[in-house]
Amino acid sequence: MKKIAYFGGTFDPVHKGHLTIGRSLVKLFGLDRFFFLPAFHAPHKPDRPPTSGYHRYAMLCLATCDEQNISVSTLELDKREKRYTIDTLAEIKALHPGSKVFFVMGADSWTDIRTWHDWENLLLSHNHIVVTRPGYEIGFSHVTAGVRERIVDLRNGSTDSAQLTHANPRIYVTDIALIDVSATEIRQDIATDDILDNSDAVPAEVAKYIEKYELYN
Ligand code: ATP
Repeated sequence: MKKIAYFGGTFDPVHKGHLTIGRSLVKLFGLDRFFFLPAFHAPHKPDRPPTSGYHRYAMLCLATCDEQNISVSTLELDKREKRYTIDTLAEIKALHPGSKVFFVMGADSWTDIRTWHDWENLLLSHNHIVVTRPGYEIGFSHVTAGVRERIVDLRNGSTDSAQLTHANPRIYVTDIALIDVSATEIRQDIATDDILDNSDAVPAEVAKYIEKYELYN
């Protein structure tokens, strides 16, 4: 059975934290394909309209062009409207019949999960991978007992393959990719100094693209 993961986010811009998550999860779960899934407009982030989907998509393609198992999905951008993850996941499942599909989210998304549309149903009816992030605690008290029963904690080096082969949907928690970088920091850096201070934060091609198209100044 093929294993496929979709990582939803704004990716404004994609950075090395996101890429490390992709590479690490491909290895840990033996994924056949890992897709970045840029949102047309994240429904739970109403405060700041994201940069055009064309730019965010282009940066993701530049960042992943040499990655054999990592691709970019246009599924949400193509809809040109806000999408709820539970609706997108139903479409994704239909696109990959017979495959095991995982939805990937970061620690901050996990903390805010109760603000997501139909969140309990979303968590119970699909496989999820929650990736911890420096500076964020992963708690479980905000979800229901039924959801807590589905959690498989892979932190602290626990990568026993038997834990990765559940037939029913599970919520896997992993600390496999701990990179302290955020898109907000990158945008602020450029807005204040006109230049990306931490040149390690994004791949070189993405840094060039940001400069060429004068994003975030
Ligand atoms: P912003 O600072 O604008 O919120 P971000 O860096 O969190 O951006 P998003 O596009 O919002 O990037 O991230 C998509 C997903 O990736 C989110 O679930 C987020 O939690 C997760 N994520 C982002 N950066 C990291 C990181 N360094 N480590 C682990 N998860 C991360």
